[in-house]
Order: sequence, then structure tokens, then C-alpha cells
Amino acid sequence: MDDIILLKQGEMVLKGLNRREFEVKLISNIRRRLKPFGEFRVYSMQSTVYVEPQGDCDMESAFGAAKTVFGAMSVVRAAACEKDKDAILKTAISYLESQLLASKSFKVESKRADKRFPMGSIELSQYVGGLLHDRFPHMKPDMHTPELVVNLEIRDLAAYVHGAAEAGAGGLPIGVGGRMVTLLSGGIDSPVASYMMAKRGVKLIPAHFFSHPYTSQMAKEKVLSLAKILTKYCGRMMVELVPFTKIQEEIRANCPEALLTIIMRRFMMRISERIATDNGCTALVTGENLGQVASQTAEALAVTEQCIGLPTFRPLVAFDKQEIVERARSIGTYETSVLPYEDCCTVFTPRRPRTKPKISEVLEAEEALDIAALVDDAVRGIERVAITI
Ligand code: ATP
Ligand code: MG
Repeated sequence: MDDIILLKQGEMVLKGLNRREFEVKLISNIRRRLKPFGEFRVYSMQSTVYVEPQGDCDMESAFGAAKTVFGAMSVVRAAACEKDKDAILKTAISYLESQLLASKSFKVESKRADKRFPMGSIELSQYVGGLLHDRFPHMKPDMHTPELVVNLEIRDLAAYVHGAAEAGAGGLPIGVGGRMVTLLSGGIDSPVASYMMAKRGVKLIPAHFFSHPYTSQMAKEKVLSLAKILTKYCGRMMVELVPFTKIQEEIRANCPEALLTIIMRRFMMRISERIATDNGCTALVTGENLGQVASQTAEALAVTEQCIGLPTFRPLVAFDKQEIVERARSIGTYETSVLPYEDCCTVFTPRRPRTKPKISEVLEAEEALDIAALVDDAVRGIERVAITI
């Protein structure tokens, strides 16, 4: 039996004048995401995106991928059949059999896009509904709160039958929120923060800071694995690997120990801002959270971002750790995040970090460093790795 995939647009239908742009992005994201599974015709009509296989396609995998595309509230597979009332009934019985057996109440809803179809939509619903009731008498017809809605659509090429939809990925299509640099460590938090911003339609460029030989090749690989998991939602990404050893050694040699972390974090922000402006990004994203570690007090966060001009988004700022862990599990990054490789932040941790740094003392401490030269050097040393789905 031929089947297709239908995606119902979510929040984006509220976007008024931008709606067409949203739809175009959603359709091109779906096309790109489903490409590995065959050739599909993808188009939208009345807040629904239709994905029709052209020949032999891996529909199971395509459906799985469709559920990860941001911008769709619900996703459902539908069976195609001849545009004939009895063929439609037969298809409903075979395609939805398990749902029909499991439901206590139902209704049939029909849409007739092809006006040449000889029955009206109410007439078709009544015809199919009546015969389904004869066949599955345990189900009560219920027009208001049915457990199962049997959907029938009469379109140009065929008729389609589908039942309950599954939840889509929600959010907005990637690209409509512009581009941002996300600071991706190997920890639990930053992959979740990245996912959340991608869900709001943001195309991400991950930046990772590594301190060879203090951090290992394995730590770098771990971050690339996390980026790989994220591509399932974010699409392909170019990861920027920033050499950070020299900066950390200079800070350690020249600045007060209690300020090592905060000064180091300011360098991450400066370099990320450079990557952002080089790539047309509008903001930075981090996995920072209020109160989680010494560098994440309100005072420390303020000093961290004081050295840049772009806004910093911290989607996890008010989350409990447990909530972040749950999200990490549900998006599939948790198991990788907890692998035991060191991060450059932890290699040079002061014994007693200042939890409420003052900007004046930090600026004074930074006078010992040639900031511009260190940033230029690090940016020149960036290695870019393309991560595909
Ligand atoms: P995470 O679990 O994301 O590592 P964390 O709670 O361990 O976060 P920190 O190590 O203080 O917190 O880092 C705070 C944020 O700074 C991270 O969420 C991430 O956005 C960024 N960050 C930290 N280390 C790196 C790194 N090596 N490369 C890129 N970004 C980093
Ligand atoms: Mg960390």
C-alpha cells in the first residue's frame, strides 16, 4: 500500500505576513532531512506539508526523521488509495485496524480537495462511518470527544486515510531565527541549550575550546559526537575547534589565581564573538545556569559577558540540574555527555574561585595580557570540522 507523510504546521501558522517564508524554510528543511531515504515530493497546502514518495522510499526512516524536524506540531503517516468510497472504506479497515479495535469511540472526518469527487465530505464521512460502525460495533460514534478520528482526504492524485497523529518536534523551522554561535563543551548542559535554541529556529555554529595536551583527543571526539547527535535536529553543522592552551597558560602565569576561570571565560566570549561576526551570527548561546558553579553567579555572568557587544542567550539559566538531565536524556545526548573526559575549564580550576568578581579587578588583572594578540592567534588556529547527519 502506498503511503505518504503529513506534517501539521505548528506555531508558525500564527506568524501572519512571514508565514510564507516559514513554510518555504520548513519545506526545504524537510526535503534535506528526508533525502537519504529516497525521492519525495514535498509541498504545503492549508497549514499541512505533504510528503509523497516518488518510487521506492524507506518510509519508516523518513517518518522517524520527519518527527525531528522543527516547525511541525504533529506528524502522521497516511495510506493512499483509489478515489472510490469502497476503496477508501477498505483502506481504512486494513490500515487503521489496530486503532479501530483499540478505540471505544470514533468519528470520521473528510476533506474534499478534489471537487470532482461525487460525494460531499459529510456524505462520505457518514457512509464510511456507518460501515465502520457495522464492522467494529464496540466503537460508539462520538462527534465531540472521540478517542479515534478517522481522517479521509480526497486529493488530486489519490485519496488518503489516516488516524491519530504523533507529536512532531514543535518549535520553528531552522533558519527563521537567524544564526548564532553556541559554546559547546563536552558537558550535559550545552548540548541541551543548543537544542533549545535550534528549536526556536536558530541555525547554530558550535564553537569548542580545547587545551591540548591538557585535554585529550578523546575529549575533542566526544564533542564532535555530541554535535553529531545534535545534527539529527539541527541539520548539518560546521564545528569550530579553537586552540585554547596558550591563552590558559598566559592567564595562569600572569593573573591572580582566584580570577583564572572568569578571565578564561571572557576569552571564550571574545573568540566566540569573532566567530559570530565572521559568520553573520546575531548572538552567542551557552549552557550557563544561575548558581550551578562558582562562575555562574549573577555577578560572574555579568562580568563574563561585559567584554562583548553581542547578546548572550542562556536558555537553561533557571533550570534545575535534574530538569536539564531529563532533557539531555530525551534528546539523546546524556549518555555521551557523561563519558569521563576532561574539559579545558576543569584543567585549570582555581582552588578558591572568586564567586562575586568585580569588573574593575578583572580589567586590572587582564592588563597583564596582550588580549588582542591572544585572540587573533586563537582565531587563526581554528580548525573547522563539518558534521553531517
Ligand atoms: P556544561 O555541562 O555544558 O559543560 P557546565 O555546567 O559544566 O556546563 P561550565 O563548565 O562552567 O558549566 O561551562 C558553562 C558553559 O560554558 C557551558 O555550558 C558551555 O556553553 C561553555 N563552555 C564551557 N567549556 C567549554 C568549552 N571547552 N568549549 C566551548 N564552550 C564551553
Ligand atoms: Mg562544563
